[in-house]
Amino acid sequence: MTAAPAILRNSITDTEAEMRITLAAAFRVAHHLGWNDTINNHIAAKVPDEPDAFLMNPVGLGWHEIRACDLIKSDFEGNYRTDTTMKLAPAGYNFHSAILREVPDVNCTLHIHAPSTVVVSALEDGFQFYDQGACALYDDLGYHDFEGLAQEAEEAPRIIRDLGSKKALIMRNHGALTVGRTVGEAFYFMRRLVDACDLQAKLMSMGSKARTVPVEIQKFTKSQMDKRRAGKPYGRLDWEMYFRLADQIDPAFKTL
Ligand SMILES: [Zn+2]
Repeated sequence: MTAAPAILRNSITDTEAEMRITLAAAFRVAHHLGWNDTINNHIAAKVPDEPDAFLMNPVGLGWHEIRACDLIKSDFEGNYRTDTTMKLAPAGYNFHSAILREVPDVNCTLHIHAPSTVVVSALEDGFQFYDQGACALYDDLGYHDFEGLAQEAEEAPRIIRDLGSKKALIMRNHGALTVGRTVGEAFYFMRRLVDACDLQAKLMSMGSKARTVPVEIQKFTKSQMDKRRAGKPYGRLDWEMYFRLADQIDPAFKTL
């Protein structure tokens, strides 16, 4: 499959161009971190100056090759506002669009099948809090049971119900989902979740009893983190670093 030609430059607003470049950077860095599953998985974001539309990656492209011009803009009824021969995947469209449309203050959705998140998603006792990084997820992590490929419209309300006002969702026997007010915030929570799942998978393979962080300390640590952010989205400085990383890996992601 050939990627879309770079013809967008003159037909979109500066705001959309900026969001396309931000989102393309997220794909490149997520690939660098080993998060995505071949051509599957999605990151989607609302277009800031077009609130009834969002951007998402088309079927067929690997995350290492996505450029700003490749992203498809769609409304929430599935009508494309980008002239393209490519398509959005049904399961990805179904729940990413539903969350972006329905959940207040969510402007970005990020879903992956990184191996350690799938490992933890299949554990009966689920995610465990083993370190301070995991504490970022205190009171911000939900669970959604596996129902088959998530392309059925009737499943989307249950995903939204299980996510609630949380930032992260373990999709059991499937993978992980995070959301954010910004792309950087969704990325921040996914990094915390993937790193904690990696740690849990390693600890559980040691064969010794591991010590979890007590619930009251999880809560206190998260309150310390919240205080530092003072209500602003998590991950702002982290995102600036990730964006520079994307540029260092291959600046072609910015192509419009
Ligand atoms: Zn999935």
